[in-house]
Amino acid sequence: MTIARSHSSVKFPSEFMLVAAMNPCPCGYYTDPRRPCKCTQPQIEKYLARISGPLLDRIDLHLGVRAVPFDDLRNQKVGTPSSTMREQVGAARARQRERFGHDNNMLNSRMGPRLVRTHCKLSEDCERILKQAMTELGLSARAHDKVLRVARTIADLEKSEHIKPEHLSEAIQYRTLDRQL
Ligand SMILES: [Zn+2]
Repeated sequence: MTIARSHSSVKFPSEFMLVAAMNPCPCGYYTDPRRPCKCTQPQIEKYLARISGPLLDRIDLHLGVRAVPFDDLRNQKVGTPSSTMREQVGAARARQRERFGHDNNMLNSRMGPRLVRTHCKLSEDCERILKQAMTELGLSARAHDKVLRVARTIADLEKSEHIKPEHLSEAIQYRTLDRQL
């Protein structure tokens, strides 16, 4: 992060996580089962195109989030508690520390192309799934490596040594906006 003032500029080392949200269309109801969307297809395409492909390409996970139904809003049942999630993330990070032992700051998300090739080896089944996704979704080389890094992380969260087809398929699902644009 660079702070520029009239007399000097100071650089602070920093890391950030970008979390962004957008509506599915100008009126906001495109994916809402309760209300009809009033937008035309060209309007929706124009709206989604406001986020450029190269920017979307750099976002690791795309998720469609639907409106929460009333019954779920009133539901007393709680999901996975934060403490459990914390344990799961801690365990996945421990696996990554083991993997990249020499460099404790290293994480799956920071693997360059060479490390991706080394640590995200795929079975024949997985190769087939990835090839199909690349062709059908027209994924870029950058998105290809992102899918592999995310699949490796999902496998780590499930304490799996190898990336399995279900890990890879889940990672591909997080590229939903590549599909729409
Ligand atoms: Zn709409």
